Amino acid sequence: MNIILGIIIFMLGACLGGVFVNLFESDYNTSILKFKVCCPHCKHKFKLIDAIPIFSYIISDGKCKYCGKSIGIKSLWIEVCTGALLTLGYFSMGINFKLVTTFQLIKLIEFLCMFITLIIISNIDLKIHRINKKILLFGIVAQAAINVYYYLNIEITNFSYYRYVLYLIMTISLFVLDIIYQKRIASNSYVIDIVLLLTYIITTIEYELFIVVLLNTLVLSLFNKLFNKVDYIKNDSTDILKEVEQKKINVGFWLCINTIIISIIENYLMYVL
Ligand SMILES: [Zn+2]
Repeated sequence: MNIILGIIIFMLGACLGGVFVNLFESDYNTSILKFKVCCPHCKHKFKLIDAIPIFSYIISDGKCKYCGKSIGIKSLWIEVCTGALLTLGYFSMGINFKLVTTFQLIKLIEFLCMFITLIIISNIDLKIHRINKKILLFGIVAQAAINVYYYLNIEITNFSYYRYVLYLIMTISLFVLDIIYQKRIASNSYVIDIVLLLTYIITTIEYELFIVVLLNTLVLSLFNKLFNKVDYIKNDSTDILKEVEQKKINVGFWLCINTIIISIIENYLMYVL
């Protein structure tokens, strides 16, 4: 039973990953509502059978059925990783569906909202080096709704609402700061976006674990920079555009992935062990 459930959750996660890759590979301005799953090269709309994650990739040998161009191993990796993370995330909550409580269900919804928010943000950051604020806003609103539940059941949840109110005030101030910045400079500030992302992340995990996420991100970002440099020297490129590209570090991506992994470990230690 658990294996079947695991496979279903893995496929759902892989679908999620596949849709996001396709969404942002093709055109990141497309609205999610208008979005169609299509080939990133010829834009041919995929049928349902072409869009099954991993399975379609293996059958078509990683090539588009309509134009024959390669879809890229990166999308397969993202599908596999998203599927694996969601499966691990689910099992780390130690839920037994015969004895499930409302509190456990709320915890599961909380994890799912955080997972979806951070996976989308990390994919967009990897692709265009930007934090998508609409998705972030979704995460903030979902977390706020869940925190209202925790507050109403404070005797079970032990929810420290004064800390949360402080973060909420910070988030609103940052949004205002961001609007002012955008009006003055007419462009996005990656730093403000990262601070906004941080204030969201701190509402989803424990304070001590937040420090771990920060430290991990710092180390991985340094590796990211080092790796970029080596790559740049190896390629011996004189392209200025490429040089600019090399300087970018996907801090947002590392923050999101670290938060997901650390909260899975936290849940496992809390609910399973
Ligand atoms: Zn194609």
